[in-house]
Order: sequence, then C-alpha cells, then structure tokens
Amino acid sequence: MTGIDRARVEAAVAELLAAIGEDPARPGLRETPSKVADAYAEFFSGLGEDPIAPLRETIPVGDVEPELVIVRDLEFRSVCEHHLLPFLGRAHLAYLPAEKVVGLGRLPQLVDTLAARPQLQERLTEQIADALVQALEPRGVVVVLDAQHQCVTTRGARQVHSTTVTVASRGELDDPVRRAEVITLIGSAAQ
Ligand SMILES: [Zn+2]
Repeated sequence: MTGIDRARVEAAVAELLAAIGEDPARPGLRETPSKVADAYAEFFSGLGEDPIAPLRETIPVGDVEPELVIVRDLEFRSVCEHHLLPFLGRAHLAYLPAEKVVGLGRLPQLVDTLAARPQLQERLTEQIADALVQALEPRGVVVVLDAQHQCVTTRGARQVHSTTVTVASRGELDDPVRRAEVITLIGSAAQ
C-alpha cells in the first residue's frame, strides 16, 4: 500500500474549513483534520493495491463439472469520485467456472479493494467483472451492484430512497437469456 500523505490531507481539510467560513482552530474542529485523514486513509486504502491478489489462490475443480456460482449480498462501500461522498450497497457476483474456483471468502476482499478508491459505480462493476475474468478464466461472469449514493440522497435531487443498479457481464453469461437467468436468481434473494 502506498498510503495517503496525511500531512497534506490535514492541511487541505484545515484550508477547506477556513474556506467555508469556519475557524479551524476552534475547539470542536481542532481534531477534525486528523480525523478526516484517518477516514480518508480507510476510504482510499485500495489505491495501489492489486485487486487480483486475493484471487491468486484458486482451487482446481478436478473432475467435477462446475456449474454456476453466485455469491449474493456482499455489502460494500465506496466513495464517488465526483463529490467525494460515500455510496453504499450490495454486490452480487456470479461466475461460470471453467478450470478454477476461488474460496468464497476471497470475493468480498476483491470488491473491497476495488471499492476503496475514488470510484464510479459503473466502473467498479466493470472492474470487478474484469478481475474475475483475469483471475479465474471462467466461462462467464455477471456482476450486479445496487447502491445508494449520498450525492443523490443528501444533496441535489435528495432522492432518499433511490438506488442505482449496474450490471456487467462477460463470456457465456453475456448472452441475454443466460444473463437474465442469473439476474433472476440474484433477485430471488435480494429484497
Ligand atoms: Zn457523486
């Protein structure tokens, strides 16, 4: 991990507070630059990390004819790169294995690493799909993300119940019929 430059983040937050007309030296705000630096270190801990790393240890499927694997409801949080406000939601990952499968606990790590950087939900969805293709060389992949963006719920349009759904598909699961089948299976658990 490259890590963030804490001193610069703290200086920038103090400057931001001054710019909105606040007094960064008042008691309630004195610790704020340091606390924001802690939060940013966590939000952006995935920068410089290799998202594929958690998937390196794959398991050969042997003589079992592998069928569809779907992992639903992985909770994730990321930060939108336009407003630097969090977006929070659930990721559903499906793949059709070829030669390799991966320990199911590795999939949340993949999502977390890619989410812990300034992101767009659309790009995050594509990157998760591409990482699965690269690491597992599966026959197909579907990734569905369903998230609530604080830049939509708390500002601007203030659509507090609005969620955004994005889908990425690869290989055999890019076929509309198969993709629809997978999304139906995902949807039967969601809600
Ligand atoms: Zn935004």
